[in-house]
Amino acid sequence: MTVDAVVPADTAAARLGVAPSPLAQLLLGRTLGTADLASERGVDCPGDLPSPSDPGLVERARRARAALGDRAFVLGHHYQRDEVIEFADVTGDSFKLAQKAAARPDAEFVLFCGVHFMAESADILTGDHQQVVLPDLAAGCSMADMAGLQQVEDAWAAFEAAGLADSTVPVAYMNSTAAIKSFTGRHGGTICTSSNADRSLRWAFERGERVLFLPDQHLGRNTAVLQLGLELDDCVVWNPHKPHGGVTPEQLRRAKMVLWRGHCSVHGRFSAANVADVRERIPGVNVLVHPECRHEVVTAADSVGSTEHIIRTLEAAPPGSSWAVGTELNLVSRLAAAHPDKSIVFLERTVCYCSTMNRIDLPHLVWAMESLVDGRVVNRIEVDPDTAHWARVALDRMLSLPGSGTTRG
Ligand code: SF4
Repeated sequence: MTVDAVVPADTAAARLGVAPSPLAQLLLGRTLGTADLASERGVDCPGDLPSPSDPGLVERARRARAALGDRAFVLGHHYQRDEVIEFADVTGDSFKLAQKAAARPDAEFVLFCGVHFMAESADILTGDHQQVVLPDLAAGCSMADMAGLQQVEDAWAAFEAAGLADSTVPVAYMNSTAAIKSFTGRHGGTICTSSNADRSLRWAFERGERVLFLPDQHLGRNTAVLQLGLELDDCVVWNPHKPHGGVTPEQLRRAKMVLWRGHCSVHGRFSAANVADVRERIPGVNVLVHPECRHEVVTAADSVGSTEHIIRTLEAAPPGSSWAVGTELNLVSRLAAAHPDKSIVFLERTVCYCSTMNRIDLPHLVWAMESLVDGRVVNRIEVDPDTAHWARVALDRMLSLPGSGTTRG
């Protein structure tokens, strides 16, 4: 068995082997700053990626999956395409999938149909004998990439210089790189999901006066204000592209929540105008959104919660009810198809998939599975032991929170 690629933790730049840029978040189609359209076909797919129009593609996928049998475990994130979900042994959010992978120590290969930080988490939570494969290395997450390790280290140095590090507890969202989870573990912090962020914040405020929340400013703000009862004025935004984060030492000292300036490119698109528009178009509609949406969207909605909350809410909704859902479109489309007795529409009029999630398509999955059948481990995601240790420390703190055995985000 050979390993074609072992990928270091942190950022899309590291994945693609290019010098990191402080501004570029998605490096798709770029190599060393030069347009490279070939790389759009998938990083490190050495020319044998099946054609998407291959009429035998589904059959090839079935054959490869059958040949791998119990040696492989295929995970499909809720936001994946239908063609990929069809081959998933289990579907879920990132944390549930990582837990499911950890519960299958007999599986030699974990094929993670999701994005890079999720595959890192799976590698951290699975045994050393298991190998995690991401079918397309360009499947990153723009939110996770908005908090680079050096940027966060620099911010922490500013906290130390202001004498505030000892009274600040970092809390990192699951949607962060292994390097950021590791930073959080080393500095006494914890991880959160979108369904236990309130518990993680309460835990942190028992240990410090303020929280450095990474990397999604919206989840941090929404949780602090709507669930912990803090004021918007208690929150400041740390912009890593400005000197001293764009925050004065006095503002930093007074803040209870220091929100990293990151956001999800999908959920960040929804606006309060979308909510007003759908209410006008569909009288009686219920608006259901994810807490990665902006604060004005969440406060205008009828219900807010994690992906699993959205799924459960729609399952429990009465027949004939109307819903406008603000989350990723693949999931909303599947929920609409699964509940034909309810009217379920996407909150925004324009189509919006998670472009990086959609990098994983059937050709990449077939390529990864057929490679494993041939004895080649491709696109392996491996977190170095020190990073994995401290990330695990932060994850274990989250898992020890009351009720966290069943949390999802
Ligand atoms: S939906 Fe948002 S948070 Fe999730 S992978 Fe895509 S960009 Fe990242």
